[in-house]
Amino acid sequence: MKEICILIPVYNEEESLPFLYDRLSQIRDRLHQYGFYFLFIDDGSRDETVRVIQELQERDDAVQYVSLSRNYGKEVAMMAGFDYTNGDAVILLDADLQDPPELIPQMLKYWEQGYKDVYAKRVSRDGESWFKKWSSKTYYRFLQKMTSIDVQEDTGDFRLLDKTCIEALKQMRESQRYTKGMFSWMGFKKKEILFHRDARVAGETKWSYKKLFGLAMEGLTSLSIAPLRIATIIGSLAIVGSVVLSAYLVIHLFVSGAGAMSMPLIIDALLLMGGIQLLCTGLLGEYVGRIFMETKERPLYFVESSSIKPRRVLLSQSKFTERRKI
Ligand code: UDP
Ligand code: MG
Repeated sequence: MKEICILIPVYNEEESLPFLYDRLSQIRDRLHQYGFYFLFIDDGSRDETVRVIQELQERDDAVQYVSLSRNYGKEVAMMAGFDYTNGDAVILLDADLQDPPELIPQMLKYWEQGYKDVYAKRVSRDGESWFKKWSSKTYYRFLQKMTSIDVQEDTGDFRLLDKTCIEALKQMRESQRYTKGMFSWMGFKKKEILFHRDARVAGETKWSYKKLFGLAMEGLTSLSIAPLRIATIIGSLAIVGSVVLSAYLVIHLFVSGAGAMSMPLIIDALLLMGGIQLLCTGLLGEYVGRIFMETKERPLYFVESSSIKPRRVLLSQSKFTERRKI
């Protein structure tokens, strides 16, 4: 019997969990041909989430959990899930039921046809502000232009991944993570299915705009060095501009006999150049910061308690260490 792991990162989701468990149980009852288990990754919740999961586990063997030592963020929680999962396929799901579990049978159907990464694309999203929708759309357009990798627009983390993909993802252990970009980068045969995204069933979003901005920067800087190239282009344009301006000033001096450049214009030019320089330094800093974070080579997360063991010692990490020795 093929084993399917439903992987759910959870952070302060005590209210959503009972609803989620009900919906998942219904799906499981309809699909007898598979062995399902539900793996909850508690991302350092401060409410009763872990207790609720433990209660579910007492009633149902299929419920497993890993509780992280603090709140690391969803990206790292997903990585912990990949390390602990052991399914023939893994389905990533949010706990708030914004991603309808009813799509699971369709995902499995495509998986059986040989697709390795079946992702759900939103055609609409309820319960989210127009600004969130607009900024997300604009960002993906921008990201697409800046990077050569095809990041799927309007697609969250809701997807089915074959175990081959999980093995691939386990090897990408950078600490500054943008998993959505990794799904695209790793390749494998992909299939899209469309769905309407519902509003949260309970509780509120854990992603503030600040966190989203951080993730957006992560996406851009982890996938491409195009922003650095743009800085070079802006710098070059500024140099060309200043050469032209100097030529104009020299000619002006000869024709009218005086350096008639006004003070405000000079201040303006100074401000512009200062701004461009700071912006470029900031950009450079983003990349240097990433290098700094990666050189620490810290474990991505620590586990406080869990009902299962990790599936495997991190093969990729030992490989990494070997490479460094050489
Ligand atoms: N989540 C998490 N750690 C965090 C933030 C969120 O594990 O630091 C989980 C959360 O419990 C949910 C999923 O990630 O299952 C998506 O979070 P949320 O619904 O808040 O994001 P949104 O749907 O608003 O983008
Ligand atoms: Mg949500």
